[in-house]
Amino acid sequence: MRNSGYYSQFGGAFIPEILVSTFDELESAYLEARDDPSFWQEYVELMSTYSCRATPITRLDNLSDELGGANIYVKREDLNHTGAHKANNVMGQGLLTRRMGKKRVIAETGAGQHGVATATMAAKFGFDCTIYMGAHDVARQRPNVFWMEQMGATVVAVSDGSQTLKDAINEAFRDWVTNMDDTHYVLGTACGPHPFPEMVSWFQSIIGTEAREQMLERTGVLPKRVYACVGGGSNAMGLFSGFFDDDAVELIGVEAGGRGKGSGQHAARLAYDDATIGVAQGYKTFFLQNMDGQMQDTHSVSAGLDYVGVSPILSHLHETKRVRFEAATDEEVVAAMQRTVRREGLIPALESSHAFAQAFREAPEMSNEDNILINMSGRADKDIFTVADAVHDPKWREFIIDKAAAYRREMSNG
Ligand SMILES: *Cc1c(COP(=O)(O)O)cnc(C)c1O
Repeated sequence: MRNSGYYSQFGGAFIPEILVSTFDELESAYLEARDDPSFWQEYVELMSTYSCRATPITRLDNLSDELGGANIYVKREDLNHTGAHKANNVMGQGLLTRRMGKKRVIAETGAGQHGVATATMAAKFGFDCTIYMGAHDVARQRPNVFWMEQMGATVVAVSDGSQTLKDAINEAFRDWVTNMDDTHYVLGTACGPHPFPEMVSWFQSIIGTEAREQMLERTGVLPKRVYACVGGGSNAMGLFSGFFDDDAVELIGVEAGGRGKGSGQHAARLAYDDATIGVAQGYKTFFLQNMDGQMQDTHSVSAGLDYVGVSPILSHLHETKRVRFEAATDEEVVAAMQRTVRREGLIPALESSHAFAQAFREAPEMSNEDNILINMSGRADKDIFTVADAVHDPKWREFIIDKAAAYRREMSNG
């Protein structure tokens, strides 16, 4: 086992012997790219012509007034191509894949957002692409699977085990072991074996670098508090990294509180006390697991935060108290989203709405001289099914029923 990639006791690379040389190759390629200023230049150029970088900062004028207290600013990662910060990571890994001379990419995906982003990147770079997804998730996420297939990706429905994300991860690793010579595994967040947590955080650091400059330009001072939701931790690492050296800036990570503390139905690994340190999926961090190290079932209204582990770098920053962790419940999150839609005309993803909920809770206690910054990691187009259900919109239900009836008529006529 290697000793690089540790953040105090967290991280590492617990991988099968057969993958060691592949991880070494990846780490070297990543370190060389980091040392080569032209690589980052090419990355910024790509993101500014293919995605929407630099993404702007928007002041929530109405909600800053309504809540009183701090001035609320939002970093608009929702304006990226495919609707979230995930584009930063996959396009960066796309450039790295090409640099390593590989021609095929694989990825695992739960809700499908990372699958769509990876398939997009593969189409753009001309790579073959296979996406592993639990069979349950394939059935639940047809809109995302549809776009992956349209972009030429092969979507493999994994019918092992619980037929969800962790089974897809196992299958993707099995593929990688067989095809490592020409294939890169595009991991979707700041988790997994070294160098993924560090490499993904590096690509996402474009968020924090831009945001720090933009806040200074716009307000003349640094924000007092910076909020980001935490699933695996990539958007949070990206935004926070712009402010790590600014001791006066408080960093707040917001996890999925699901049905609340003590419910056993949440994904708050650091904000609640239910998680313990363990090794799984190739790295050491806080996991929601039972006494035998069996992973627990997690729950969140937002698929992107519904995960048992968390970035080892964030586990470390939790222990050193550089980042404060909080959780927002499903109910609070849907309310924060509705409020933002209604008062600002912005549509934050359910994931991002966790950060909004926590910021809305804290802003009124702050001075109106203070500025705070929220990462709007993505937009909620993908959440329309969940949100329409959560707000019991009767017309949405009618629409779905009509659509289904039309298909049924079509099938019985043809
Ligand atoms: C995937 C996703 C997340 C969670 O991933 P992190 O790695 O924790 O950033 C958050 N927000 C949105 C919009 C997502 O799509």
